[in-house]
Amino acid sequence: MSVDALTFPKATPRFDATLALDASVTKVRAVTETRAKALEKLSIYTIRDLLSHLPTHYLDYTELSSIAAARIGEETTIVGSVGRIKVKQTRKFPVTEVYLLDNTGVLKVTFFRAPWVSRQVSEGDILAVSGKVKFSYGYKEMASPFWEKVAEHGAHENLGAEAQSYARVVPVHGLTQGISAAWMRRLEINALEKTRGLLDFLPSHLLTNYGFMGLSAALSAVHFPHSLSEAEAARRRLAFDELICLQLALRARAALFGEPTEGYSHSTEGQYIKALWKALPFKLTEEQQQAVKDILADMARTRPMNRLLLGDVGTGKTIVATFACVAAADSESQAAVMVPTSVLASQYASKVGKLLDAVGVSWALLTGSTPQAERANIEKGISSGKISVVFGTQALLSKNVTFKKLSLVVVDEQHRFGVEQRASIAEKGKLADMLTMTATPIPRTLALSLYGDVEVSRIKNRPIAGAGVKTVVLTPENLDIAYGAIEQELQAGHQAYVVCARIEEDEGKEEQGGATQQGRERKLLSAEQVYKHVSSQTFKNWRVGLLTGALKPQEKDDIMAQFRDHKLDILVSTTVIEVGVDVPNATALLVLDADRFGLATLHQLRGRVGRGSVSGKVFLSSPYSKKSASRQRLEALEKSNDGFELAELDLKLRHEGDIVGFKQSGETTLSVADLVKDTDLVEAAYREVSEMLQNDEALRDPTYVPLTYEVLSRYKHIRSQGGRS
Ligand code: ADP
Ligand code: MG
Repeated sequence: MSVDALTFPKATPRFDATLALDASVTKVRAVTETRAKALEKLSIYTIRDLLSHLPTHYLDYTELSSIAAARIGEETTIVGSVGRIKVKQTRKFPVTEVYLLDNTGVLKVTFFRAPWVSRQVSEGDILAVSGKVKFSYGYKEMASPFWEKVAEHGAHENLGAEAQSYARVVPVHGLTQGISAAWMRRLEINALEKTRGLLDFLPSHLLTNYGFMGLSAALSAVHFPHSLSEAEAARRRLAFDELICLQLALRARAALFGEPTEGYSHSTEGQYIKALWKALPFKLTEEQQQAVKDILADMARTRPMNRLLLGDVGTGKTIVATFACVAAADSESQAAVMVPTSVLASQYASKVGKLLDAVGVSWALLTGSTPQAERANIEKGISSGKISVVFGTQALLSKNVTFKKLSLVVVDEQHRFGVEQRASIAEKGKLADMLTMTATPIPRTLALSLYGDVEVSRIKNRPIAGAGVKTVVLTPENLDIAYGAIEQELQAGHQAYVVCARIEEDEGKEEQGGATQQGRERKLLSAEQVYKHVSSQTFKNWRVGLLTGALKPQEKDDIMAQFRDHKLDILVSTTVIEVGVDVPNATALLVLDADRFGLATLHQLRGRVGRGSVSGKVFLSSPYSKKSASRQRLEALEKSNDGFELAELDLKLRHEGDIVGFKQSGETTLSVADLVKDTDLVEAAYREVSEMLQNDEALRDPTYVPLTYEVLSRYKHIRSQGGRS
């Protein structure tokens, strides 16, 4: 179904308001060219983008209280003028103290590790602060509150007041240089005005069944709520929108993108498969055999496969995927294996490639570092069908890569890829079978929301137990313990990893991912810095290499190859080594600033060692003290070796918004829905889409027209890919 084929009510203001969503943001009143430029930095180009730029939190003026009336131990918002600002340097970090005055008293507001506060605030400014009131050393105090400058000292125009008069709960939007908080609110107001009365794309029975707010109301309320509960109700409505649209994009491809529903039926007992069974260097475990059986059965069917192969690091997923690839070769079609890093792609080529050679299946490796001439050759081989299996990185997504007949897509360590990347590799074949693999455990709700109708195979046990790892958490003062252990391993002829949370020495931002106003400010050790130190001092007698994501793919491959061939003893790196790197001689791992990582990531990281017969030594360094939650989270790794258990725990603790390492790199699939809080909505969206497709597979019912239009607008990229062929 194309957008043009969709019928809308006759042109009405409602129609205009709806279409305005996808108009340029410059159509919004007061969005000048300069402001539009500034908005681009927040990836805001259309009115839809602007309205989707939701507040990160709210200042609740409905709970406004005077300093004298503020009750100890309760959350409240206080507005006062800045009397004095003091920055103290404690032994560990700077503390900024701001003394706030109103007509009734003095409130001491403290900010830890946030020296920029003193640069942003001056005496006489009016601040609103929101948080819990404590009593200490004779003052009422609020520590690390949400805060906002309501007015500059001596400001004539009180922009904050405008917002306040609009709503008692003030939204705090993410900002960028050139657009102040007050201006952002003004622009949101103008955008709302432009789209007032827009058509609600959700079928009305969903609104009534779930008691959702109407779209127009939800957009107003999420930006300018009258209460926090209203804001939450609005957010839930928008989260449901996001989830149901994603479900439809994943599961109604035939109806939405005009795809046929019959895929390939693979031959699964051909000569190559038979040869592979014979060429196996080891006997498959029962779980591996079962997974192979499931996958081949899926592939034999014409219905496209959508299977997720879950298994902890080292459970032997690669060989299972090899069977799938070989089945494609047997069926005179092609397989593409996409992995997130060139290091991993090369590893595939060297390991799986050998097996394919033995079986007689042609293959190629295509990454960003493949030289031009070779690349052209490989591209020719892929389009002529001479190459049956291609391993590669995102380089496979290039439009120069066209397949003669792509019938299987394997995506390894798939959580590194977003929905759209997965879709665009899949689009290179028509209804290709899809096998995704990951070592990161995915709760059911997450699998449903990210993959639609997915079937799951799980491998729980490792084929070779390996010696395992012993994990120790320590503070930076005790790093010599880790260094000593590493030295011992090196002496014994083994190798070691040192992993850092940051790449460069001088990053503009204090933390990767961008420190927020309330974010903690702490100097993270950078890989470059650590490399310098380690190679010139701690381990100056050993061969040390540096591997970061900032290197060119070719350089990365070289360094990785050197480490693999034991031409390097120590590899200092960022998490680029997290995914699937296999060097059995590496037996020690040190992670610096380990609290910066999710448990799932750390568990993946430590899977790099202890793979062979020698037990791995893992050290996690973090400045947090024994009692802190961050430290306790890390200590879970000392106690448990079960990746799935750890992931569940991580999900529960919800470490600083890092959902089991599932933050999509570079691309966010879900921005409103919260996979922890909104599991009921995930299930609801899944259920509703099942029902819709059951009753009306082609989604022809006029009730669904606005909704399908919305899905098409949100997933333009997928559509344009699909529409190409
Ligand atoms: P992962 O699931 O992390 O991708 P791999 O596929 O890299 O795991 O396998 C880990 C290691 O186990 C590899 O060295 C692989 O050759 C080996 N392996 C896989 N299956 C078996 C098996 N059935 N018996 C013995 N070794 C195996
Ligand atoms: Mg793997």
